[in-house]
Amino acid sequence: MPQTITDIYLPRQAKVEQIEVENSQISTFVLAFCDHAYNDAFRYQPGQFMMVSMPHCGEAPISISSTPTRPGAIHLSVRRAGKLTAAMHGLRVGDTIGLRGPYGRPFPMEQLQKKDLLFVAGGIGLAPLRGVLDTCLDQRDQFGTLTVLYGSRTPSDIAFQTDLDMWREKGVDCRLTVDAAEPGWDAQVGLVTSLMDGLHPKLERSTALICGPPLMFRAVLGRLTAMGFRDEQVLTTMERHMKCGVGICRHCHMDGKLACVDGPVFSLAELRKLKIMEMED
Ligand SMILES: Cc1cc2nc3c(=O)[nH]c(=O)nc-3n(C[C@H](O)[C@H](O)[C@H](O)COP(=O)(O)OP(=O)(O)OC[C@H]3O[C@@H](n4cnc5c(N)ncnc54)[C@H](O)[C@@H]3O)c2cc1C
Repeated sequence: MPQTITDIYLPRQAKVEQIEVENSQISTFVLAFCDHAYNDAFRYQPGQFMMVSMPHCGEAPISISSTPTRPGAIHLSVRRAGKLTAAMHGLRVGDTIGLRGPYGRPFPMEQLQKKDLLFVAGGIGLAPLRGVLDTCLDQRDQFGTLTVLYGSRTPSDIAFQTDLDMWREKGVDCRLTVDAAEPGWDAQVGLVTSLMDGLHPKLERSTALICGPPLMFRAVLGRLTAMGFRDEQVLTTMERHMKCGVGICRHCHMDGKLACVDGPVFSLAELRKLKIMEMED
């Protein structure tokens, strides 16, 4: 969407149309810009993010968790972390917030065409991948097999349950695990890597998309490498502290790259060229 240099920091008002409670810490906010013409023209790509502003809280980057194949509303799935996200959790349907964006380099959807896609996520990490998955389902003949490995701390912490059920109905191989079981849970217990045990992906046509906390990311990378995935076949989104979101303040600087404009989506091959990977080793 074209923006002039004068309005890059200007949020636009968006109305909360619906709130889906995912678990005690995560809710998905369905939003539409109050300016109907702007809302109708608004376009984005999976993996991009919005800068969200709330009165007295400043701004925070939040991934768009909906698919551009269903225009008219933007979904933001938000985990209660600090001041701004706690204020968002106090929102009611009909309230308004400020939004600017979309920003960032998205997932390379064209490169993913015809590929078997392995999504690996923990907790809120499923948010940026949700838009990719729904895009694949809306353009089903353009993608290969779809597999989701999703880890949560406990069964009560499982977010996106409605999506997981719907994806299963549509033929996605969704596998869940929890760190600690609760009464009534008779499925997998263990780290998300334990879901990789029985997987035999066709390496030559597979890509993995990972999003989750750093420890999970490390463990999953180790398993993917052992399975034979090359660095170019692994994509992730980088969470860095951000201020402007548009490449000016350089707050999200990573060894010459900016998470906000060069990312947040990176291949593992790109990340290995940055000192950041060594720092996180
Ligand atoms: C590109 C991008 C996409 C994101 N998408 C989502 C999303 O879809 N849903 C969601 O819930 N959150 C997302 N986040 C994280 C979210 O922006 C931060 O948690 C944000 O700081 C929350 O603001 P707050 O005022 O509630 O918390 P704050 O008071 O800012 O922070 C709360 C805690 O989180 C830590 N923190 C803040 N920002 C980051 C960060 N970028 N990385 C690691 N730790 C941080 C702080 O140090 C503090 O300990 C995303 C971040 C980035 C960079």
